[in-house]
Amino acid sequence: MSHFPAPPPEAVHWDKAIIDKYDSRGPRYTSYPTALEFNQLFDVKAHEGVLAGLQEHPYESLSIYIHIPFCRDICYYCACNKVVTRDEKQAETYLAYLEKEMALVSKAMGRSRKVTQLHLGGGTPTFLSSGQLTRLVHSLAQNFHMVDDDSREYSIEIDPRTVNTSDLALLKGLGFNRLSLGVQDFSPKVQKAINRINDVTLVRNLTVAARSLGYESINFDLIYGLPEQTPASLKETLDQVIELNPDRIAFYNYAHMPDRFTSQRAIDRMTLPTADQKIDMLNSLSEQLCDNGYRYIGMDHFVKPTDKLATAQQQGRLLRNFQGYSVSKSQDLIGLGVSSISGFRQAFAQNEKDIPAYYAALDNNTLATCKGLFKTEDDFRREFVIMALICNLQLNFADWEKRFPDNFSVYFTDELAALKTMEQDDLIKISQDNIHVTSKGRCLLRAICMNFDAYHSNHLQLHSKVI
Ligand code: SF4
Repeated sequence: MSHFPAPPPEAVHWDKAIIDKYDSRGPRYTSYPTALEFNQLFDVKAHEGVLAGLQEHPYESLSIYIHIPFCRDICYYCACNKVVTRDEKQAETYLAYLEKEMALVSKAMGRSRKVTQLHLGGGTPTFLSSGQLTRLVHSLAQNFHMVDDDSREYSIEIDPRTVNTSDLALLKGLGFNRLSLGVQDFSPKVQKAINRINDVTLVRNLTVAARSLGYESINFDLIYGLPEQTPASLKETLDQVIELNPDRIAFYNYAHMPDRFTSQRAIDRMTLPTADQKIDMLNSLSEQLCDNGYRYIGMDHFVKPTDKLATAQQQGRLLRNFQGYSVSKSQDLIGLGVSSISGFRQAFAQNEKDIPAYYAALDNNTLATCKGLFKTEDDFRREFVIMALICNLQLNFADWEKRFPDNFSVYFTDELAALKTMEQDDLIKISQDNIHVTSKGRCLLRAICMNFDAYHSNHLQLHSKVI
């Protein structure tokens, strides 16, 4: 997005006074506008039209996300769209519907665009058996132009409790070259409190096997703010994580919202760390990871300095989509499966969120689109700003003005005035031609971006807290 290199990374420190001042609710900006703005005016017909338009860019790459909603057990902290079951036949039926959807999407958009990025998420993608995973990959190849060279980034979320080393070998053979392991925390006490027992030996064996099988990148998902977690227990978990040396670490904030997510009601509020403890945890985890060679790129993500995400940020070309940070050049992402979101350069489309509704649409031989939106001219302008700040930590006004026929400072007069307080608090620096997020500001990226979000006051209670 930016043609200028991002400033070199500095250490991060979460400052309690500043966090208290700006700690309001806000989106994570995996898209702008966010999914909360989607509406039913965007229907199947609109979705089909956008898919047909993809043929106008036959030489551009394409990303695909597939949602597998099934899990064998419930993790109490979970806020995902999932179905907890032990019935493997449900996955068989789901696969058949996914294949119907793939055929409809492929018919609408053609097969010319190379799929350079694939991500299987959930739920638990590894709920699928080896045979089912193989069938899924073959169906993808029948319907889309999947690539089998080094340009591909095919990743899958792994619940360590559901796979063994032979499964990892099979996945590698099927073309996956990136793994994301849901680790969360290694403390037995915390694992019991969240109903998710995956001990360190299990994760160690899988990590070692993945390395020897030649996976290019291993990500660990961790969570801070869990029940029974303390700064000391988290430090111990991190000692074990650092020894396993993953390439990327996503460190999510547990947001306790039992009114919205019923499984969270099984968590005793009294066992949750306090806000002050969470800030202590953030500061020590950040220090521990940075001291051990990781770099904080923003929005909960730590990566090795040699990782593609770190170099992309340095060069001002990091991007963000529904799966988080990305270096994908593709401007179009096809979401398949229940509740999946497709993100196109000009629109978003979301599938039905419940399995019966998703199946019913496909039984009628139509896409399962339930809502979405076409971006407005104003959305494009704000999207550019928010994505530049959240990904590359700066926005050059000249870059924005090359894209839009307006003067940045005039178009955003009110927003720039509102940012003055943040500038006084040293969260950002504003010059004549640039906004730059300071190291202090990197802890409050969401709050900074909210200044440019025309919708941010619409659904405040539905967002988690910034910290
Ligand atoms: S956290 Fe993951 S594995 Fe656990 S219930 Fe939620 S989706 Fe399933």
